[in-house]
Amino acid sequence: MRFDIITIFPEFFSGIFSHGVVKRAIANGLVDVQMHDLRNFTHDKHRTVDDRPFGGGEGMVLKPEPLMEAVESLGMAAKGERDKAREQVILLSAQGARFTQSVARELTGLERVVLLCGRYEGVDERVNELTCDRELSIGDYVLSGGELGAAVIVDATMRLLPGVLGNEASSAYESFGQADGEFAQDADGPPRSTHGAGGLLDYPHYTRPPEFCGLAVPEVLAGGDHASIRRWRRERALEKTLRNRPDLLEKAELAEADKKYLAKLKSAL
Ligand code: SAH
Repeated sequence: MRFDIITIFPEFFSGIFSHGVVKRAIANGLVDVQMHDLRNFTHDKHRTVDDRPFGGGEGMVLKPEPLMEAVESLGMAAKGERDKAREQVILLSAQGARFTQSVARELTGLERVVLLCGRYEGVDERVNELTCDRELSIGDYVLSGGELGAAVIVDATMRLLPGVLGNEASSAYESFGQADGEFAQDADGPPRSTHGAGGLLDYPHYTRPPEFCGLAVPEVLAGGDHASIRRWRRERALEKTLRNRPDLLEKAELAEADKKYLAKLKSAL
């Protein structure tokens, strides 16, 4: 899978893809990430990428010509002729649809993603209309530029690609993971290292030492009773989701036992 990032700050990314899983995926050729300096697509002495907004108001707006030229330089088909199941141009925008784990999963089906990073007050809207397939926001807050958003999208998407994580199952069994039905076949056998997703937040994790600052690792985890460990993890995931993200419970796949446990938790509140 290839990502192309169009930005006025290509150096911004110099350290960001040089660590851990992402670095390894690039080194192994599973992912290719290329940065492109928007200023290389300007034709004036000052390499101007922005201009004042029509209609007045504060700030500057990224001009359409360099952005369009940058996208065209990448050999992307015109928007109307583009095979969107294979390649997409994505605009980072606070007004975009929310980037979530399921969008990341969807993007893994593409061969190529071009990410346009806005700055200042944003990007001339005609760029969106003329060449962008979707606008994505990484959350309900305003950043000073699209670069952090682009890095988030690259990171979250590439770790879902086959072969990127050491353990293939890791990405399924974590917060916002696949629906439980999809890994129902794992009901027996040793509990997975990160079981308990299914639309819920992940359960808490512990490693050695067994006791730290007076806090012991929950006893059930030290025993070998897989069924008890599975139940304990599921209950902690339910508890954490209820506490931190009750909205997720509305869409989560819940078994009868889950619903009973939640009712018990709620009545104790
Ligand atoms: N005037 C805009 C904000 C511009 S911020 C508004 O009110 O919506 C400058 C740039 O930062 C944007 O063009 C976009 O590329 C990026 N950006 C800001 N917030 C973002 C977010 N939540 N997600 C993704 N990109 C964001």
